[in-house]
Amino acid sequence: METTKKLEAKIGYQSKKRIDALKRRTKRCMCKYCGGSLKLRRIIFSDYEEARIEIFCNHCDRIEYGIEPEIYQSAKFFVDNSGFNCYPDLDDSEKTKQMTIAKVCEIMAWQDQNLGILNENGFSVPLKLNENFVGECITLTEANLVDDDIIEDKYALDE
Ligand SMILES: [Zn+2]
Repeated sequence: METTKKLEAKIGYQSKKRIDALKRRTKRCMCKYCGGSLKLRRIIFSDYEEARIEIFCNHCDRIEYGIEPEIYQSAKFFVDNSGFNCYPDLDDSEKTKQMTIAKVCEIMAWQDQNLGILNENGFSVPLKLNENFVGECITLTEANLVDDDIIEDKYALDE
């Protein structure tokens, strides 16, 4: 049986490992809805519950785990060029289109994970991207490198 001290050290190590993984993801990935850059936020739910650090999209104002930029660009390219709409019953708005892109991102990521070429650290094989969307991708990756280690507080109760 583990002593309390040992257990605390283990949890501390795990949460540091989790935060490091979230930081890497924040730098690498983008919002699967708007394609915007992501930030780490300390989400504060109440005085009694400990704050949790999550990846957050400021543009969408939501917790967003993020998607590989190559997948987002591919999904957006697909939706733009096919007119595919996951939500035909909803109004045909920019928001509906973002929801469709996000859903296509999830399907593509699911496929890539099951093919064994995508894991929590990103793609495990070199990619040869379609030149139609590779340019935008690189610009956004560079933008993500700016002020990445700042973690701002976010009060969930203020919503
Ligand atoms: Zn967003």
